Amino acid sequence: MDAYAEFEQATIAAIATPPGAGGIGIIRVSGPAAPAVLTRLFRPANPAANPASIPSHRLRYGWIVDPAGGHPLDEVMAVYMAAPATYTREEVVEIHGHGGYVVLREILALILAMEGVRAAEPGEFTKRAFLNGRIDLTRAEAVLDLLNAETRQGLNLAVSQLSGGLQQQLSGVRDTLLAILAVLEVAIDFPDEDGEIIDHRQLHRQLVEGVSRPLAELLAGRARGRIFREGAAVVIMGRPNVGKSSLLNALLREERAIVTAIPGTTRDTIEECLNIHGVPVRIVDTAGIRESSEQVEQIGIRRSRSLGERADLVLLLLDAAAGVTAEDLALYESVGEKNLLLVVNKIDLPEVAGEFAAQGTIPWEDSFPGRPLVGISARTGQGLAALEDAVFQALTGSKPRDPGYACVPNARHEAALVKALEGVERVATGLENALAPELLAVEVQSVLGQLGEISGETSTDEVLDAIFSRFCIGK
Ligand code: GDP
Repeated sequence: MDAYAEFEQATIAAIATPPGAGGIGIIRVSGPAAPAVLTRLFRPANPAANPASIPSHRLRYGWIVDPAGGHPLDEVMAVYMAAPATYTREEVVEIHGHGGYVVLREILALILAMEGVRAAEPGEFTKRAFLNGRIDLTRAEAVLDLLNAETRQGLNLAVSQLSGGLQQQLSGVRDTLLAILAVLEVAIDFPDEDGEIIDHRQLHRQLVEGVSRPLAELLAGRARGRIFREGAAVVIMGRPNVGKSSLLNALLREERAIVTAIPGTTRDTIEECLNIHGVPVRIVDTAGIRESSEQVEQIGIRRSRSLGERADLVLLLLDAAAGVTAEDLALYESVGEKNLLLVVNKIDLPEVAGEFAAQGTIPWEDSFPGRPLVGISARTGQGLAALEDAVFQALTGSKPRDPGYACVPNARHEAALVKALEGVERVATGLENALAPELLAVEVQSVLGQLGEISGETSTDEVLDAIFSRFCIGK
């Protein structure tokens, strides 16, 4: 790789901690000039210690000193990590100073003034880890997911990918493809005997079981993974006074520790963020829509519809005591074929509580054929846990605490997987029609190329830049 040669020369440096005052701030340096940074700028507190022979992977206490004036800049802990046992596989130095941003910037400026050192680009440390072969591309991306994870579940996914989950799954598929390719190549070399060498049905079976099926399963996990990684938008709809705000508050109360308020996207909607079994859910309450508009009915329903269109799930809230009204049905119609949960609120009210307790449901199926109803009371909290389970299931297609989401591809992987599967399909058809082994081999190679793009073996510079530029500087 061309990029590799250039990177080997340059030493990069950056502040690795976020801007602003913190407990400590860390400057990270990677490349051949890294050790020189310490010899030039670091004075160990113990004067007997020779700065030129700092042992690897040991924190040392001392001062950063401006070599020009000799005056100390910060009291720090410094560490030298010898290649290749480092994050980037290069020589690495880290300086842990007091967290002040001005101090960190001054130290960084001294480092950048040195020969052969330049400022790191976003994600460049991780990019070097990839270019130097320490991690594959899926793991580099997992580092990014880890940094951006919003819930524990998202974090688990990232960690699973970081430890090579996706890569492992793909390497099994790759082995099967290589085995098929080997048979085809023997047949190419012995054209007179290819009829005996190739058992088309056997190869076809191998292809389906070892390639098509696992790739299709990976793709199916994508929707689920996206929701854990990027979160889901859920809209609470319903006519006035059914209890939308009460429901939102009740859900938030349950999750108090992890609630973050974010400003609503419009003046008359409230948007809050909560965590439902690990899915970061943005809940939009449309309570204000009606009150703020003049031609209430029309505008309310139109606004609800457009909000609903952008949502991953709509909760249509009904009032148990009021029964199904024309307005409820109009809202129901406006949601259309969208992912929808019918939620019946106020089951605590005396006029319905008995009925609900006796039947365990609300007998409204006729109004909403084929749609299950979830009964809740925003006031007493009854049914809220079941509602959260139902929301989770509607969003992910799996039950809470179902361990079936160990490894999920991201959008980039998805694109490559889709192309790979198209190629697999061509191989399958080719095998069915007993196509010439040369042609089959070309198709198998192209599938291997698609899979190589996921792990980074055959990725272009463009793909790499797109991935690493999403990182922050210093990572
Ligand atoms: P919104 O207009 O849909 O946001 O409805 P609100 O959340 O403001 O609730 C309307 C009224 O219904 C308020 O007086 C609430 O106290 C009441 N309410 C909401 N949820 C329940 C419930 O589960 N049980 C009972 N009994 N009253 C409720």
